[in-house]
Amino acid sequence: MSLDLARIRAETPGCKSVLHLNAAGSSLPSQRTLDATLGHLKLEAEIGGYEAADKMRGTLDGFYPSVAKLIGAEPGEIAYVENATRAWDLAFYSLDFKPGDRILTCVSEYSSNYISYLQVAKKTGAEIVVVPDDRHGQIDLTALERAIDRRTKLVSISHIPTQGGLVQPAEAVGKIVNDAGIMYILDACQSVGMMPLDVKQIGCDFLSATGRKYMRGPRGTGFLYARTRSTSHIEPIFLDNHAARWTGDNEYAVIGDAKRFENWERYFAGVIGLKAAADQATELGMDAVWARLRELADGLRVRLKPLKGITLTDLGTTQGAIVTFAAAGADHTALKMALRSQDINVSVSTQFSSRLDLKGRGLKDVMRASVHVYNTEAELDRFVKALEAAYSAA
Ligand SMILES: *Cc1c(COP(=O)(O)O)cnc(C)c1O
Repeated sequence: MSLDLARIRAETPGCKSVLHLNAAGSSLPSQRTLDATLGHLKLEAEIGGYEAADKMRGTLDGFYPSVAKLIGAEPGEIAYVENATRAWDLAFYSLDFKPGDRILTCVSEYSSNYISYLQVAKKTGAEIVVVPDDRHGQIDLTALERAIDRRTKLVSISHIPTQGGLVQPAEAVGKIVNDAGIMYILDACQSVGMMPLDVKQIGCDFLSATGRKYMRGPRGTGFLYARTRSTSHIEPIFLDNHAARWTGDNEYAVIGDAKRFENWERYFAGVIGLKAAADQATELGMDAVWARLRELADGLRVRLKPLKGITLTDLGTTQGAIVTFAAAGADHTALKMALRSQDINVSVSTQFSSRLDLKGRGLKDVMRASVHVYNTEAELDRFVKALEAAYSAA
């Protein structure tokens, strides 16, 4: 099934005002998602927040199957969480680490996750092991296999880093990790909504994602997947009267499914908006979306490659929708702002978000242009022209 590109664009209100190449930061939502979100905010204002939630109960409950479907999970394996970092934290901080336990991760790991490893290592005496990259710049699977030993408690990687086109071989990692009987957390913040995902094939125990990036949902939304088979014994680090029942004066019982990772209060309009976005992604078809995104991203790389002073900085054998590059001698942030003044949105990824990767490659920062289904080849042409002009003026 191919995408109706003209229709996708017509149904994305932001396309009228900006040339948006920042889906990896926060993408443009569709009119349908916007209507779903605003509709609920309006209903809350009109009839009261609790009453609006009661009235929309069916739609709110529909969040779980809608998100589950997108990643091949069961509805009971999904928790609504306000963003990807918190979703990831809920999984990671719910694990018990002892002195000498080893956490294996990858070079391109996201900063917030790595800061959490450092904190837990400091508190518990657990050790962090960074598995080296292979010659393509992705996690070296042989090195991973070799690094796993009796003390290895967790393998935790980012599927697609925030700072580039790299797609880690999550499924091959899953096979190794599952064979070793170790816990596997996948930060899929950039990959959900960008590419087809099947958690059963990947074999991860937890997966975290955000709403606003490739899912095209509202900001302040996200979710956690927790595999029933391997995580149902794990008690969340936080409990409240939604995640557990106060069953006796001195007793509580944690609820059975992944909702135990949620808390009671949440952004209900966001839940409804994210459900709409997930449904839309499923309807478009993730195979078609992924094919189109690679076509656009490869097209952008082809356009950028011959430009004098520009170096592409994406790694990996399979490259996704995030295109990064360096402009020699230029201040990337100034370039970004020069483009912003023409309503062209790109971003700059710095060592602040992935220290080991960028520092290791001698890059202070990289420019990031991340495409989505509403972008066109004509926009890529216009972007490249504007970039060249801004670069030569810099
Ligand atoms: C953006 C990002 C995050 C953080 O997501 P939030 O929703 O901002 O918490 C985590 N991991 C990766 C790889 C990201 O790109």
